[in-house]
Amino acid sequence: MAGEPQADCLFCKIAEGQIPATILRETETTVAFRDINPQAPTHVLVIPKAHYPNAAELAAAEPQIAADVLRESRAVADQDHLESYRVVFNTGGGAGQTVFHAHAHVLGGRGMQWPPG
Ligand code: AMP
Ligand code: ZN
Repeated sequence: MAGEPQADCLFCKIAEGQIPATILRETETTVAFRDINPQAPTHVLVIPKAHYPNAAELAAAEPQIAADVLRESRAVADQDHLESYRVVFNTGGGAGQTVFHAHAHVLGGRGMQWPPG
């Protein structure tokens, strides 16, 4: 069923506590944890606990939870005292998505270039 945990999904395992992560925040619907390979002083991933393969599918099926992910991204930035930050949803392998469980990257603490690579 849509949103159900997937046995072979890394982020479902992190959401369920089966794989350790440096968890910053947790709500009824989301978990925020530090990226294992940080690309900025703050690099946190915010995931829905429900499994959807990308943010677009999450938003289509569960718009309230997609809003929760955005709200928690802001909360992460506030917690790390970031005035400016970037929220990224890599969607599809060509855009750099490697884990197919929806997640927001929250990046900050250094200057950012535009356009991104
Ligand atoms: P993406 O490439 O957009 O799918 O992002 C996946 C992110 O997950 C990458 O930035 C990885 O560094 C990160 N990642 C992979 N495994 C772990 C893990 N066990 N704990 C925390 N972050 C991870
Ligand atoms: Zn998953």
